[in-house]
Amino acid sequence: MPGNNPRVLIAGGGIGGITAALALRQRGIDARLFEQADAFRQVGAGIQMSANATRILRALGLGDALARVAVYPEGRDYRAWDTAEQLYWTPLGRQAETRFGAPYYHVHRADLLDVLLGGLGTTGFRLKAPIERFDQDSRGVSITLADGTTEAGDVLVGADGIHSIVRAQMFGREQPRYTGNVAWRGLVPAEKLTHLDLGRVTGVWMGPNRSIVQYYVAAGRTFNWIGISRSAGAARESWLAEGRIDDALAEYAGWHPTIRTIIAATPKVLRQALYDREPLADWRLGRVVLLGDAAHPMMPFYAQGAAQSIEDAYVLAGCLAATPHDPVAALERYVRLRQPRTAWMQALSRREEELYQMTDAAAIAARNARLRQNRNAPSSTFPPEQERLYGYDAEAELAADAA
Ligand SMILES: Cc1cc2nc3c(=O)[nH]c(=O)nc-3n(C[C@H](O)[C@H](O)[C@H](O)COP(=O)(O)OP(=O)(O)OC[C@H]3O[C@@H](n4cnc5c(N)ncnc54)[C@H](O)[C@@H]3O)c2cc1C
Repeated sequence: MPGNNPRVLIAGGGIGGITAALALRQRGIDARLFEQADAFRQVGAGIQMSANATRILRALGLGDALARVAVYPEGRDYRAWDTAEQLYWTPLGRQAETRFGAPYYHVHRADLLDVLLGGLGTTGFRLKAPIERFDQDSRGVSITLADGTTEAGDVLVGADGIHSIVRAQMFGREQPRYTGNVAWRGLVPAEKLTHLDLGRVTGVWMGPNRSIVQYYVAAGRTFNWIGISRSAGAARESWLAEGRIDDALAEYAGWHPTIRTIIAATPKVLRQALYDREPLADWRLGRVVLLGDAAHPMMPFYAQGAAQSIEDAYVLAGCLAATPHDPVAALERYVRLRQPRTAWMQALSRREEELYQMTDAAAIAARNARLRQNRNAPSSTFPPEQERLYGYDAEAELAADAA
């Protein structure tokens, strides 16, 4: 351990936990990661990585590796569910990169994981290591794993996802909120869809009670789609809950042939219920702190859950590096810097449901008319929430706060 830097234990090897390990190491802090599964895993699905996250991945030295596996979309293309009429367009690609100083990417989750693991290497983590509990006092924190072994450190980071064990021990076990929506997901080999001419865009199709977002991943070799639909019915909240293609097609009955063709060409669909939680005012207890979905799970309409976990990781590492002798103060600063932004994102992601999942025909017509009106706005303009979201620079935030 270099100097008197704290020793940090991390519960969970998802995108947030691994990024935290990388960011801490980059600052010379000893980080030990514990993942319950027997291998690091991400679901077979796509993920959008916005500039606020890719700026950090670049700072962690992963920019080139990420660029090699990513797709670089030209814009976000909003379409009517039944006619495919283009309702609205916001630029991505060069224009957004120039504005926000980092690229917007579409990535296969397995590729993103490979990029992160390339940075992590082969040491500093344990697999098959489910954390069961923690204990702490004024001198340190220790964790107990399922096999009874213990590990000691100065700080514990709970990056163990929406059902976080660490969070439950901190604040009591509380079920997340079922949002009333399920997600359908599919990956299609690109060659099966070439005749559709889908373009290098983030396609957003909004219909009554449901929506679909779709884009290429894996350097263009695979097409990814995610449909979100309102459903009172139960669905297992697991990536591995396989759905039936016929059910997905029934869900999107009457939709434009482009969408139905994509769904019909999908070898396997996943169906997953969507949960979130109310924002916490604080998510630390002494030497224990949360990160990513464990702290602030959100609906996926802004495609920000993983991006926010990456921001968390980088800011946390910056805070611990700034006051290595006082980790408790560092955690207080971390939560102070992160809570308002992530709570804003949680609320915005819920609000966006109203835009994407409208029920009422008159409301849909009014929404479409509003979008059409803005369709020809100068393409150099970005909506204000995108400015705040994608323009965020974690390093600048740390520096401004320290000044
Ligand atoms: C449909 C959908 C689409 C999405 N699209 C996007 C998108 O485009 N862009 C984006 O940025 N975000 C997106 N998200 C959000 C994103 O997937 C999550 O926010 C992100 O994966 C959370 O990462 P995490 O590391 O915090 O948690 P997780 O990914 O849940 O990782 C937690 C890890 O902790 C491990 N673990 C759990 N308990 C223990 C324990 N007791 N001990 C040890 N290990 C444990 C788990 O095995 C897991 O590996 C989407 C989410 C959904 C549902």
